[in-house]
Amino acid sequence: MIPDLPRTPSFRLDGRRAIVTGASSGIGFACACALAEAGSEVMMVARGAARLDEAAAAIRAAGGAARAQALDITDIPALQGFVSARGPFDVLVNAAGLARHGPALDTTEEDFDAVAAVNIRAAYFAAQAVARGLVAAGKTGSIIQISSQMGHVGGIDRAVYCATKHAVEGMTKAMAMEWGAKGIRVNTICPTFIRTPLTESTFRNPERRAWIEARIKLGRVGVVEDVMGAVLYLASDASALVTGTSLRVDGGWIAG
Ligand code: NAD
Repeated sequence: MIPDLPRTPSFRLDGRRAIVTGASSGIGFACACALAEAGSEVMMVARGAARLDEAAAAIRAAGGAARAQALDITDIPALQGFVSARGPFDVLVNAAGLARHGPALDTTEEDFDAVAAVNIRAAYFAAQAVARGLVAAGKTGSIIQISSQMGHVGGIDRAVYCATKHAVEGMTKAMAMEWGAKGIRVNTICPTFIRTPLTESTFRNPERRAWIEARIKLGRVGVVEDVMGAVLYLASDASALVTGTSLRVDGGWIAG
């Protein structure tokens, strides 16, 4: 007897609505492109309007459905108001992030608070806002935090950044436990060093660059395209039974 063939679940996102924070630049922009290419309608959010509008226009010019909204996601009431007015969103990719690297002995409270406000506080309430919208609408969804390999290991001059990304890993597990019964999946993507405006200064430092290249087993630093497949996987039905975990796009950094 010929067996029924199992069908690969779809990586397509037609008919789904996604919101991407930090979408004007780097990893967030690449994620918005990937989601739009897979058929979803993408709401792109970042602080500055000019670059964001251009980014959304570029996606539309390529045939995707994208809109832009300038928003500082550390303004939690504004973030919540926006998500509740324009949602529900089936997919959240929270890629807004901030880094202020330096020796832990020199960290100021101002640096700590600024990085934590974006990387922890806003990440937490962005997930909450999208999940609330899904629960109110009785829908399932996928929440994806762009964390970092630094959510699993330490890094030179990165005590604050590492603290915030480890926090993202923790909140993701707890939210996944709480929202699993509602069909809301919560996961992180943990990239290694990816060439973006955020990492420009690190790559300019030859010592740091050597440190990075020695640890990435695949022998090269990342580009934003390396994250695009991971975000599609976690956003789509291809990962229907995946929650509370982290997908490391780290070239083998954490392996040893
Ligand atoms: P980037 O600087 O290119 O982009 C950051 C984006 O976040 C921009 O669109 C910016 O407008 C937005 N943003 C920052 N603060 C915001 C706020 N308060 N409100 C709204 N938007 C805000 O950086 P990137 O390298 O693309 O980083 C994106 C995410 O990926 C960050 O969370 C970062 O920690 C993480 N990450 C980056 C790397 C890397 O090597 N580039 C590695 C691991 C993780």
